Amino acid sequence: MTEKVFAHSLRHMDRARQVVPRGVTSAKRAGLRPTPLAFAGASGSRITDVDGNEYIDYVAGYGPMLLGHQPPSVIEAVRGQLAAGVLYGGQHEAEAELAERLVRLVPSAERILLNVTGSEAVQAALRIARAATGRKGIVKFEGHYHGWLDPVTANGPGSPAGSGAAPRPVVAEDHSEVGPHLLVCPWNDTAALADLLARHGAEVAAVIMEPVAVNGGNLFADDGYLAEARRLCDRYGCLLVFDEVVTGFRLGPGGAQQRLGVVPDLTVLAKALGSGFPISAVVGRAEAMRVAEGPVAHAGTYNGNALSVVAANATLDVLETERDTLYPRLERLSGELATGVNECADRRGVPLRAYRAGAVIRLHWGAPDPVRTYADVLAGRGEPLRELSENLVRNGVHARESGLWYVSAAHSDNDVARTLSAFDRALAETAE
Ligand code: PMP
Repeated sequence: MTEKVFAHSLRHMDRARQVVPRGVTSAKRAGLRPTPLAFAGASGSRITDVDGNEYIDYVAGYGPMLLGHQPPSVIEAVRGQLAAGVLYGGQHEAEAELAERLVRLVPSAERILLNVTGSEAVQAALRIARAATGRKGIVKFEGHYHGWLDPVTANGPGSPAGSGAAPRPVVAEDHSEVGPHLLVCPWNDTAALADLLARHGAEVAAVIMEPVAVNGGNLFADDGYLAEARRLCDRYGCLLVFDEVVTGFRLGPGGAQQRLGVVPDLTVLAKALGSGFPISAVVGRAEAMRVAEGPVAHAGTYNGNALSVVAANATLDVLETERDTLYPRLERLSGELATGVNECADRRGVPLRAYRAGAVIRLHWGAPDPVRTYADVLAGRGEPLRELSENLVRNGVHARESGLWYVSAAHSDNDVARTLSAFDRALAETAE
């Protein structure tokens, strides 16, 4: 293998750092080694940097590219819309079509509000929950991520694990303003949630979680946990909010809620919905969403912008019409990738494990096996994974240093085979 050269990316970063803090426009991108890369193009399962290095891409734009880069029908729909207008500042028919599609696909969706990013749709959901309940409290879970806006950025992935009874100490090391209304609970611990709500339930508007803890280790909850969370929310009159920004459309056309059979009051969708065009949605039961007919502030210049909406319709059209082949194929390819990674690790005696939820894979290195708690997840993060992701990049695989991989419908059997042989080399180099 010829040694990869990153001269143009390095030069780009030197230039950008003069005017952009850390040279990146989302802080999460700052850590990639050997350098944050600058890209020149992407197509299907491949992405090419400005030095001409091609990678099999598992970053997938941080998740949205479920259909791969440049999915033809989405690009065609957007191209057609470009000729007809970008932003009307008014309604258009594709919006209602999108809302109807979401009602059809997502079990909790009876009413739909559109936004642009996952973070702001989370804020809209929390505001709706507060208006619907007349309460202020928000319960979130250790290690879960709900975007970069206050107060739910506290106790996000990588923050220290708390101990003792819930609520756990609030950790906000990022200058976010938490305020008095955030309660933090360990996830997948029925007794902790029951105990917290027994003491504070009357003040709690929303219990928000990733129904599969993708950012919190890519873990499924124990059987019955989500149903029990649903029951506890009903008992205390709190709204259950599923953040399906990642799991929506990725774990199946109806997201984690459909797959796991628990219907929340409100759901946040984004990422895969738009195939890379910025769009998010808060969807929910009609009763919970009724407050959105009234004084709840919800707005946005770019809400329902025509390009994102037609991209979402074209994306959902593929997911709906091809669901019987697309999802089984994603499962198979992702399963082969995760199994192959684990076999590699076993063969080389490396304490690395791939945990998979649908087309999302998360690597844990040095964590207890099985990984169960947030403390276990923290034990599996860190330097070896960062070094592995650098060696993967050098071997032609673009993967995040957090070990979170997104498989797309554009990945082929050949991609998986090539990835596994690159992975084997990268693992050997890292373990040396
Ligand atoms: N929720 C979850 C579960 C996410 O993974 C993310 C983004 N990684 C967000 C919310 C925030 O979405 P956005 O970056 O579009 O604001």
